[in-house]
Amino acid sequence: MFFTKELKVSNLTTKIAAVSCTLVIGPSMAFAAPAQECDVVIIGAGGAGISSAIALKEAGKQKVCLIEKMPFVGGATNLAATYFTVINTKEQQAAGKGQSIEKYLESKKKQNYPYDMDRLKEFSESSQEALDWVNKIGANITRPMSSYQMGTADGRSLGNALILAMKKKLDESGVVPMLSTKATKLVTKDGKITGVMTEGKDGEKLLKTNYVIVATGGYSSGQEVLKKFAPEWAGLPSTSAVGSTGDAVGLLEPLNAKFTHMDVLRLNPSVHSSNGQHYSLSAARAEGGIMVNAEGKRFCNDYFPDYTQLSKWMLAQPGGYAYIVIDDKAMQKSKRLQGFKAKGFFLEAPTIPELAKKMGVPEKNLVATVERYAGFVKNGKDEDFGRKHNLSLDFSMGPFYAVKTTP
Ligand SMILES: Cc1cc2nc3c(=O)[nH]c(=O)nc-3n(C[C@H](O)[C@H](O)[C@H](O)COP(=O)(O)OP(=O)(O)OC[C@H]3O[C@@H](n4cnc5c(N)ncnc54)[C@H](O)[C@@H]3O)c2cc1C
Repeated sequence: MFFTKELKVSNLTTKIAAVSCTLVIGPSMAFAAPAQECDVVIIGAGGAGISSAIALKEAGKQKVCLIEKMPFVGGATNLAATYFTVINTKEQQAAGKGQSIEKYLESKKKQNYPYDMDRLKEFSESSQEALDWVNKIGANITRPMSSYQMGTADGRSLGNALILAMKKKLDESGVVPMLSTKATKLVTKDGKITGVMTEGKDGEKLLKTNYVIVATGGYSSGQEVLKKFAPEWAGLPSTSAVGSTGDAVGLLEPLNAKFTHMDVLRLNPSVHSSNGQHYSLSAARAEGGIMVNAEGKRFCNDYFPDYTQLSKWMLAQPGGYAYIVIDDKAMQKSKRLQGFKAKGFFLEAPTIPELAKKMGVPEKNLVATVERYAGFVKNGKDEDFGRKHNLSLDFSMGPFYAVKTTP
């Protein structure tokens, strides 16, 4: 049997996979280090793996073995940029950003996206519980950003706040993650899990167990898996963690696991590249920024929740890129954006015409775009593209900033 399940406690776009099926290894297999007994082995110490470890300890499991192939914990979770997805929490309601779960699910249905609606419902219904849990352990995700987003109080990066808090809680629980330890094979006998083969500093080692949680994250940094499931996007820069190489596929495929939604890839439409590194600038849109093309014009709903569609619209623009434009009000709200400003990612100018000059876009167009959009914000309605979320920036406070982004 194989199943994937949205992780309740994390509410990031995480999955836990649990497995119990057939694979028999030969009796001659030799192990360099003595085998170790575990109640449960969790593969991957990102948000899903760490929160699973904490939950299992709280449930009374003694020998929780958490393994991580990298020399550090956190995975892609550590890189998560901006928002924690939650619906209708009391914090959102108090800020006038509540919406019923039914309405949220309806809006998702309309997106022509292959959601598993039952799981999405379960995920949405766990919003308050998940938010309370991450805040109880100190993540400080207290700022309602929209009817489906909460951010950190001072706009610092979401993932870093989560992993710092989770790691502290993990340490308190007594689970010591085995770092630089990669799961290479799930071992079974007579249709039951009997262990996990690992490779680490001391060579190969068998972790004996009857229960495994595969929490190895995504595959966007693994070209091999990317080409297999989503070849049209192979070769694009990845903002994900180096460890996101889709190892679940190699671990579970030999057991005839059934994978679902593997071709549904969520592109990041707001990637800024600098010195060969790629950074997610999605916080600039989340703080209210608009996207303009090389003509200085908006070309779509710049906060369309389907990021892959947003990326396609961007790729169809001249040059295949867009600038995100914000004002100082947005900059002041976000520690993450201030960090990017310090790295020199933003063009900055005291007025919109001067900013247009720096961007190399027609001044008249950018001024007209910004003025028209400010009017939409004032009236609460985007008459051009129907933007609903984060329709908040009226560009009333200079200086103004622009950052170049691609998918
Ligand atoms: C730049 C960026 C911005 C994002 N912003 C947001 C956001 O604002 N909001 C949001 O909800 N989501 C966001 N996401 C998505 C979110 O971060 C991920 O969906 C989530 O963190 C995945 O968590 P995870 O625990 O499943 O995987 P990860 O955190 O990636 O953890 C998996 C771990 O498994 C380890 N591993 C892999 N293979 C093996 C193996 N064979 N043996 C041992 N260990 C292994 C990896 O090294 C890694 O540490 C963003 C992602 C990125 C990259």
